[in-house]
Order: sequence, then C-alpha cells, then structure tokens
Amino acid sequence: MTALLSACTGSPDTPQRRAPRNTGASITQTPQGRACLSSLGATQANFTPLPDQYYGAGCSTLGTVRLGWLKGDEGRLDVTNLGPLACPVAASLQGWARFGVDRAARQILGSPLVRIETMGSYSCRNVAGTSRLSAHATANAVDVAAFRLADGRRISILDDWNSPSPQTRAFLRTVRDSACKRFGTVLTPDYNAAHHNHLHLEPGGLRPLCR
Ligand SMILES: [Zn+2]
Repeated sequence: MTALLSACTGSPDTPQRRAPRNTGASITQTPQGRACLSSLGATQANFTPLPDQYYGAGCSTLGTVRLGWLKGDEGRLDVTNLGPLACPVAASLQGWARFGVDRAARQILGSPLVRIETMGSYSCRNVAGTSRLSAHATANAVDVAAFRLADGRRISILDDWNSPSPQTRAFLRTVRDSACKRFGTVLTPDYNAAHHNHLHLEPGGLRPLCR
C-alpha cells in the first residue's frame, strides 16, 4: 500500500510524452461536468473549462478546468503553478482554500491568506517504483507547497512543517486536517520523504488516508 500511495515521487518509470489528442469533447458536454461547473461557478472562483485531451500511455485531462483564482471570504485567493485540474478536485480545492486555509490563517496567524503556491496538478507519470499511473496523470491531484499571507509571511511545507513556532505548526496541522475532510488521500512530510516539501491532495481512494 505504501508504494501505491507515494503518488508524487520522482521520475522513474515516466510514461513517454506524446502530442495531445483533442477529441472535440469537453466538460461542458456531460451532465456531471455541467453540474460541477455550475457548483464551482457558484463559489465565485475564476476558471476556464478545458477541452478533453488524451496524451497516450493512459494519461489524459478529461473534465478539467484551469483555475484563475479562488474566492476567499473577502476577496480573491491566488493559486500559482496549476495546470489542468479535474473539476471536482478544483471544487474541493476552492472549499479548502476558503474555509480551511484562509480562515485558519486569520484565526491562528492573524493574517488572511492571499496565495496558495502549488507544484502542479497534471503530470503524465507513474507512482515511483511501480507501473501504476499517479492520480496526477489524469489531473486528479494537486501538490501544495506554500501559503502566502497578506502580511507578507510565507509558510512553506518544506521550511515550516516542523517550525519552532507553535502557531505555525498549529496552522499547518489545521490545514492538513481540513484537507482530510475534503480529499480522500492527503500525504504530508509525515508520510514519507518524497512528500517533505508539499501536501499531496487527491480525492477518493479505496479508503481514506490522511498522513
Ligand atoms: Zn502529488
């Protein structure tokens, strides 16, 4: 199970990149897709629906959106370095950013969130050391590296997960716990060394994993 879930590690066994094949289909053409776009739109997040594409080797971006920004209680929350993201994952990310991260930043650190820095979403790769595709290969996962606050502070997973500041540690444990309520799989630096610099957020899974 450990090997199966170390979903963001390294580059071994990377499927070959190929030119994308656009099927002409898009998220707007299925009832589930339209329902997701509608609920994401209701959050006032900024996003663009993307065409469905196949990249070969089992890699694809189906039912995805490109997020421009997320919506906080009092304004927009920037999100950096994101590629295509499956719409339900984008909706979970929006809810977590506003109700999990932004509010925790205000309550625990005394400053609102202004930006979430990511290490990406879609990436055509296997789980390291296995022949199983990562959730990133279908744009069903996002790796979160850091949080920028309105007062200028930057709280990163790499530098601050074991911060000497109790408040900073409490903030990061709180955003982890809120992520675990919205994503089936949340992997942190406590899981393994491959996650020393980010939180891996992925919906579903056979059983919840929050570590
Ligand atoms: Zn990941």
